Amino acid sequence: MTKIGLEIHCQLTKLESKLFCSCKANYREFEPNHNICPVCMGLPGSLPRLNQKAVKSATSIAMALNCQTPEKIAFFRKNYFYPDLPKNFQITQLNVYGDMSVGGEGHVEVEGKKIKIRRIQLEEDPGRLIYEGASDRTKITLVDYNRAGTPLVEIVTDPDFENPRQVRVFLNILSDLLENLGVAEPGLEGAMRADGNVSIEGGNKVEIKNIGSFHDLEKALHFELTRQQSLSERDIEIAMETRHWDDRRKITISSRSKEEDQDYRYFLENDIPWVKIEQNTRDSLKENMPESISSKKERYVQKFDIAPQVAEIIASDRYYSKLFEDAYSEHNAKDIANLITTDVIGFIDTKEKQQTSKITSKHLSDLIDAINAKTITRNSAKVALQEIMKSGKATKSVLHEMDLGQVSDSSEIDAIISQIFEDEKQAVIDAKEKPETVNFLVGKVMQKTKGKADPTKTLELIKSKLNQ
Ligand SMILES: [Zn+2]
Repeated sequence: MTKIGLEIHCQLTKLESKLFCSCKANYREFEPNHNICPVCMGLPGSLPRLNQKAVKSATSIAMALNCQTPEKIAFFRKNYFYPDLPKNFQITQLNVYGDMSVGGEGHVEVEGKKIKIRRIQLEEDPGRLIYEGASDRTKITLVDYNRAGTPLVEIVTDPDFENPRQVRVFLNILSDLLENLGVAEPGLEGAMRADGNVSIEGGNKVEIKNIGSFHDLEKALHFELTRQQSLSERDIEIAMETRHWDDRRKITISSRSKEEDQDYRYFLENDIPWVKIEQNTRDSLKENMPESISSKKERYVQKFDIAPQVAEIIASDRYYSKLFEDAYSEHNAKDIANLITTDVIGFIDTKEKQQTSKITSKHLSDLIDAINAKTITRNSAKVALQEIMKSGKATKSVLHEMDLGQVSDSSEIDAIISQIFEDEKQAVIDAKEKPETVNFLVGKVMQKTKGKADPTKTLELIKSKLNQ
């Protein structure tokens, strides 16, 4: 039986400062080693000061993942010697000796299966090592401490996954959930990383470390399962070890024998006294939690009769759901939802485009009003959207400037149809014999009018001309 468990590291990118000092949490804009101070460098005599907002963000993540949240948390030192860790220990959390991390047991439902969350801990990110060339062959390694001390939550699951695909579905759900909470931007480079534990048939557990993309993690898990199966078929014992994913060669490579918890010599971080999280703080966090994706989806389906697939797409993306929530009224919700999932998503399909797009909810409701009033066709709305996305101009001006007004005048459309009947004699004969081919003629009218002809009227007129 295949068992896969995950440890997911997610940076709390929405915070201003690092976990224990006032250096910026957003280290990405700095020159290497320019976002550091004595605290995050671990210089003698410096003392950590806990970022209270980080505790709140981590607690709301724990709540969203149905975890227990304790009234008192503690921090531990995890000792290991590695160049990315200037203090030679990482301040993290552990559930031992009656002390608790920010989140205890919880669960997430993935395609009807409950994946158990073992714990959620708040900790600091180490610095970044940059290898020149493949990590197992390089002679040069650079280190950048700008990231050292960045607030991070580690989410540890039980080994409940049965295959790599399930892992990917879970990570997509988790990343949407974190984004919806407004505490993280999982799309940012390095903001969400995962380790996977893999074992087959009760054998030794192999850990694959630090993979930054869900796609790569799925590939690495596949590779690792095949490797273990092939060893086990030849009766070779699977070594308990940590392996790295080499994304150039698409293989996992052995990096060091796996440490046991005792190797880290955990002990209580005495520079930070136990932290109390008052009941009223927890209550107010719970009250102010944004609506969950599943409840949003259900509301869209129930209240507006929106198709479940459409509701799911909109609810699970913060940007689309904001556009929708701000644009809809009782009478146009379904149209707005369809406009987003059929057209808007086609143009705005990356986080970068979401940030640069100038489309507002007002544009969407104006376009739907224009379609419903038959001033423009659906097709013209699509053309207008592309322009609005770039310029942000008012819908009315765009429709006017681009001359996108719908052609509904029967005589005007009729004249075009007559011309097409002349040009496409064979198609006319076909359409008389096989009515289902009539769309070809409708398409020709649309082509000629650049999509502006009223499609219903066009079809009616063509049909009546065919029957003459
Ligand atoms: Zn610092």
